[in-house]
Amino acid sequence: MKKDFKIQIFNSMGRKKEPLVLREPGRAGLYVCGVTVYDYCHIGHARVMVVFDIIVRYLRACGLEVTYVRNFTDIDDKIIQRASALNIPFQQLTEQFIAAFHADMEALGVGKADVEPRATEHLAEMQAMIASLLAKGLAYPGGGDIFYAVDRFPAYGQLSGKNLAELQSGSRVDVDTHKRNPLDFVLWKKAKPGEPHWPSPWGEGRPGWHIECSAMSGKYLGTAFDIHGGGMDLLFPHHENEIAQSEGSTGQPWVRYWLHNGFVNVLTDSGEREKMSKSLGNFSTIRDLLAHYPGEVVRLFILNSHYRSPLDFSTELLETARHGMDRLYSALAGANKALQATAPDRTATGETVPDREEWGSWATDAAHFFAAMDDDFNTPQAIAVLFDIAKKINRAIPLLEQGQAETGAEIQTGVDLLRHLAAILGLLGDDPDHYFHRQGEEGLADVEIDRLIQQRLDARQARDFPAADRIRQQLQEAGITLQDTKEGTTWRRA
Ligand SMILES: [Zn+2]
Repeated sequence: MKKDFKIQIFNSMGRKKEPLVLREPGRAGLYVCGVTVYDYCHIGHARVMVVFDIIVRYLRACGLEVTYVRNFTDIDDKIIQRASALNIPFQQLTEQFIAAFHADMEALGVGKADVEPRATEHLAEMQAMIASLLAKGLAYPGGGDIFYAVDRFPAYGQLSGKNLAELQSGSRVDVDTHKRNPLDFVLWKKAKPGEPHWPSPWGEGRPGWHIECSAMSGKYLGTAFDIHGGGMDLLFPHHENEIAQSEGSTGQPWVRYWLHNGFVNVLTDSGEREKMSKSLGNFSTIRDLLAHYPGEVVRLFILNSHYRSPLDFSTELLETARHGMDRLYSALAGANKALQATAPDRTATGETVPDREEWGSWATDAAHFFAAMDDDFNTPQAIAVLFDIAKKINRAIPLLEQGQAETGAEIQTGVDLLRHLAAILGLLGDDPDHYFHRQGEEGLADVEIDRLIQQRLDARQARDFPAADRIRQQLQEAGITLQDTKEGTTWRRA
């Protein structure tokens, strides 16, 4: 789809929105810090992966050629500890959780990255970078390890917006006596007995965590690239350290735009917010969630918040997302039914979405969607547009059924647009009947409920209040309670 390329992006470096200007017009390189593979992924991981999946999809929808690199940390302390507790080789553990990651992501509709490098397969690149940092006096050996000397890199703190003294006062007191500065970090770790190790010019050992992202992004995206992303929790020290390594070794500016997604908060029963963490006991794996909600619903739930805002996690909000997903599919199902009954030559399967620039009476909706996404990937606003389109489709269906044949083309275009825009967000990829069938009996009835609610609304607009009351009564008898709000009518089961 042809559109002007005018994305505004919030850059954590400098903390302001700026126009996205690519190093090479038409092409974007993007690196996102991936997961450490020693356990199942939780909702926090789901958020990072869904957020950057959307960003990649949107950049591609804008016609850009995107190279997306997302790594696996497949060696670190937690991996070694877990594998040793299970008495299995660490590779067996990491293979298992890389496979689990891919299965979870597939269920969430998150595509594979173009390159998914693993740390243990890039030791040569990491060692080359460490050697260059040593040669430049930016790194030093201590007790068999190699450390980065942060006070030799004057720009240290540029991403956090703090100087060395401020960062130092806020840092934990480090017990490692081999460090010259508490903010110095390890680039290469000397092997401890019984741990996995690799040969290096500095003896047998393994890489530190930060160096892998610098080395692997450099290999696949070049020594400078456009966008680096990750969770807010990685901004300091991980991303600050990545900058120190990459810019320190090349002497050149590295990443243009830094994007960070917000934390996931858990809403407790008493309405309190807690940061999600394992230690709080509110750890919910993606698998737990997928046992209760379709992947698409989890995705919609995540996208209902802007990526930089905190994401409140509660079953109530998940249910809201489920209901929203039902409403979107219900509009498609209703349109299908009406089109098949009145214009069998039209199909609303969305299989052949035309790549059109003109959406007729729907053009404003399309423009609103793109304006929202252009504005720092504002998915809540973009999703609101999807609901507007669904509402308009629902309103047009009775007109078609009453014989206004020209409404058929209108509905068809609306369905095409809805599918087209939703696909950019990785939503509505299913056939409506299949979606409701998977949701079980309950779901099949949802379509009918939404249709009855629409009929009631139409009756009220036509001031046929007895008819509207009859529909409310009919729903009441089926155990469905309606609630009329400013935003429209919602319903719940008894
Ligand atoms: Zn990283």
